[in-house]
Amino acid sequence: MSFQNPVFIPGPTNIPEELRRAADMPTLDHRSALFGEILHPALNGVKQILKSRTAQIFIFPSTGTGGWETAITNTLSPGDRVLAARNGMFSHRWIDMCERHGLKMDVVDTPWGTGLPVARYEEILSADTAHEIKVVLATHNETATGVKSDIAAVRAALDAAAHPALLYVDGVSSIASMDFRMEEWGVDIAVTGSQKGFMLPAGLAILGFSPKAMAVLDSARLPRTFFDVRDMAASYENSLYPFTPAVGLLNGLKHSTQMLLAEGLENVFARHARIAGGVRAAIAAWGMDLCARSPELYSDTVSAVVTPEGFNSLDLVTHALEKYGVAYGIGMGEVAGKVFRIGHLGSMTDVMALSGIATAEMCMADLGLNVPLGSGVAAAQDFYRTRTTDSLREAA
Ligand SMILES: *Cc1c(COP(=O)(O)O)cnc(C)c1O
Repeated sequence: MSFQNPVFIPGPTNIPEELRRAADMPTLDHRSALFGEILHPALNGVKQILKSRTAQIFIFPSTGTGGWETAITNTLSPGDRVLAARNGMFSHRWIDMCERHGLKMDVVDTPWGTGLPVARYEEILSADTAHEIKVVLATHNETATGVKSDIAAVRAALDAAAHPALLYVDGVSSIASMDFRMEEWGVDIAVTGSQKGFMLPAGLAILGFSPKAMAVLDSARLPRTFFDVRDMAASYENSLYPFTPAVGLLNGLKHSTQMLLAEGLENVFARHARIAGGVRAAIAAWGMDLCARSPELYSDTVSAVVTPEGFNSLDLVTHALEKYGVAYGIGMGEVAGKVFRIGHLGSMTDVMALSGIATAEMCMADLGLNVPLGSGVAAAQDFYRTRTTDSLREAA
């Protein structure tokens, strides 16, 4: 492992020097006024990035998984029905957590590599005339397969069925990298973590709750203590935490949101789209397919590359780490051994992406795959030369 090389795992992502410094702070008294100067800008920054004027933001010392638990336990009761689709490892894990909390799951098993089954969601919601389904879960970007789903379409399905269920979205690998519109899409709880689009170390669960989600806190009967957002909301009013806050990470988040907003959210999304376009051009030049089955599903934050039959994709990931000190994502669950993943989110540039493409090519050649050196790099170079965005020119 070389710390000089960027990582190409889809989280944790590369940490810009500025954020490393922001997160590395001397101890300060988290009950002093100084803490409020970190907490409130971090909360406000997240709110802007979620594109919501009305959401209440909560930040726990935890990870995305703790964010899921916060969403579920604060708003649901044992035996409540929840609608979800399983189309990859992360949607699977969220479903598993709900089951362990005693929720009754309506699971739509969907082939890995496809998006959320919106038409099926609408049928199930329309059939639920008694409105027993309390929540619909949606994984915006399935990190295991590199599949982006259409959250606006999920909202439209709920509306078409005139169903009052709340909509919870896992945006851990999309928020702050790909367009996310909490308010416009009618998202009731958005969940993310610090270590992907926010370019920080792992350690924070970051959530937005809509007014509709806030309204059910007192009627929900699942037990919660550490993750009780009511305690958190009460403490925020006094610029405090109900326990010890992760001050350095919160300061990192304050600076991260400032960095993203200074670049401009639409520029951040355009940068990710451009970088992803070059990676996909390289994959096509290698003669390989993405796990995501059609272009509208292609993720701008992670590409899962299907390796040829008889080749164990884990060998490539191991080889890249051992020989070149470069990290790629392994295949998980159903696609273990069949795909390797190139993460291209967070602190990433065209030039960094080119190094990741070039290294993957060296590994494929080393391991006997029929991929001419330079083929993917040339395709990506061509792509990047002709798609410089204004944001990049301005930053230069
Ligand atoms: C990374 C990730 C998670 C899990 O987050 P942790 O921070 O590891 O708990 C959940 N969902 C998606 C889509 C992810 O990419």
